[in-house]
Amino acid sequence: MVHKLIDLHTHSTASDGTDTPAQLARRAAAAGLNAFALTDHDTIAGLDEAEAEARSLGLEFVRGCEISTMSDQGEMHILGLWLPEKSPRLDEYLRQLRAGRNRRNELILEKLRDQGIHINMDEIRQRACGSVGRPHIAAELVERGIVPDFKTAFSNWLGRGGKAHVPKPVPDAREAVRLLAEIGASPVIAHPLLRPRPAGWLRAFVADLAKEGLDGLEAWHSAQTPGQSLEIINIANEFRLGLSGGSDYHGAAKPGISCGSGRGNLAIGAEALDKLKERRRARGLPV
Ligand code: AMP
Ligand code: ZN
Ligand code: FE
Ligand code: FE
Repeated sequence: MVHKLIDLHTHSTASDGTDTPAQLARRAAAAGLNAFALTDHDTIAGLDEAEAEARSLGLEFVRGCEISTMSDQGEMHILGLWLPEKSPRLDEYLRQLRAGRNRRNELILEKLRDQGIHINMDEIRQRACGSVGRPHIAAELVERGIVPDFKTAFSNWLGRGGKAHVPKPVPDAREAVRLLAEIGASPVIAHPLLRPRPAGWLRAFVADLAKEGLDGLEAWHSAQTPGQSLEIINIANEFRLGLSGGSDYHGAAKPGISCGSGRGNLAIGAEALDKLKERRRARGLPV
């Protein structure tokens, strides 16, 4: 029997992916997926285009975004799934996050300028149609031959310890989860075990966010091992939370990660989507 597969974590040119939202929908269909979510960083600019294309291809589409937030152990990402079509509150919230990104981008370009690399903000801005970040600056550094690849752009310049590193101003994770819950979206912790953290930390973090309306954990992700998935599933079960999964596909910005199948061994069954939808229906939320 052919299983129905889904991907609830992808990026487009609205943030730091390289497929346009419509291309992404076509790619998801070509990969044989039944449903996918577009979850660009701090923006919903790509959702309408992706949704229209998905609809014309008979693909189920979930409106989403990925919000960069802070925890007591550094940056954590919160996915908002089933975003309402219209939410002035969310629009304003994301607008502020992008303004913080833009101020930070200016500071990064200033640091680069101090070290003899002159990049104009406009050159960076035209690389994304929504939310601009370090990957866009990295792409410019690569294109100009200043660094050989993305990895070096981050290790030498943009990453922590790099010569032009500037921290990103981000909201507290609890605040982002609360807002998403209040507007009727499903807040999910993205790639919960992507970075090493002290033992037991994730459980405490989840306990904290559960009080704010957290709905699920991303159990399956291109960079998580089966052992990590199991650990995440156990925590989700303990707190009666849902399970989500996605490739975190970014196109050419993350080589080796395919839409739907990740590094080749990702296969997220549509039952996960059904269960997340069931949780929403039980609370009277639209799916
Ligand atoms: P920003 O949100 O602007 O801070 O950029 C963060 C994004 O940069 C992440 O989502 C990754 O996609 C990318 N990134 C971070 N570190 C690296 C790295 N060492 N190599 C390549 N890409 C990276
Ligand atoms: Zn990204
Ligand atoms: Fe992320
Ligand atoms: Fe992501």
